[in-house]
Amino acid sequence: MYDEEEFLQLSGIQHFAFCRRQWALAYIELQWQENVRTVEGRLLHENAHDAGIKEKRGDLLIVRAMPIHSRELGVSGECDVVEFHRSESGIPISGHEGKYTVVPVEYKRGRPKANDVDALQVAAQALCLEEMLCCDIPYGAVYYGETRHREKIEFTKELRCKVQDMFAEMHKYYRQGYTPKVKWSKSCNACSLKDICLPVLNKSLSVKDYIDSKMKEEGTE
Ligand code: SF4
Repeated sequence: MYDEEEFLQLSGIQHFAFCRRQWALAYIELQWQENVRTVEGRLLHENAHDAGIKEKRGDLLIVRAMPIHSRELGVSGECDVVEFHRSESGIPISGHEGKYTVVPVEYKRGRPKANDVDALQVAAQALCLEEMLCCDIPYGAVYYGETRHREKIEFTKELRCKVQDMFAEMHKYYRQGYTPKVKWSKSCNACSLKDICLPVLNKSLSVKDYIDSKMKEEGTE
C-alpha cells in the first residue's frame, strides 16, 4: 500500500509502455510529477460516488472527469468517462435507486494503435475504480475520435498483471531517480522528447548509427 505522497500519475503508463526512458525524462528528470501531485492530491479528497454525476439517460449514469486513485498501485488520475449501467449484478450508488455495473471509457482523438498502450491506461483506471468502489469491472472501452469507433477492452488477468508490474517498475525507478538507457529505435522518430533524449550519448548506440538513423529520417539516404 502506498501513501498519497508517493502516488504517480496514472496516465504516465502510456509513456512508460511506449518508452521507459521517455517516461523517466518526463516524470523524473523534468519533475512534472510534483505539479500533478499537488493538483491530484486535492482531487483525491472529493467523494467519487457523489461529486461528478452529470448525466442520467434512462438506466445509464454518466460521470465525466472522475478523479480516481489506487493505494495498491500507488497512482492517481482521472477517468474521461465512467458509465454506470443499471444491473442487478452491480453495486449500489449513493443517491440512486438500484444497482449499477461500472464501465470506464477513455476518449482518444486519433485511431487505434498497433500497441496496447490505450488498453493499459483504461485497465489501470479499472483497477483504481475496483479498489475505490469495491466492485469487479470485467471490461471497459476506448473511443477513437478519428474512426468514431468504440473498442471494447476485456480486462484479462494478463492485462491486469502487466499494469501492476509496470507501476511497480515505475515506482522503483522513481524512488531511485533512475532514467533507463534504451537503444534508438524507429519509435524515436515519433517521440516528442527526442531532442532532449539524446540517445547518441548512450553507449549502446554508436555515433555512426545515430547519424545513419538521422540521415534516413531526413531522407538523405
Ligand atoms: S527519443 Fe527514443 S529513446 Fe529517447 S525517449 Fe524518445 S522514444 Fe525513448
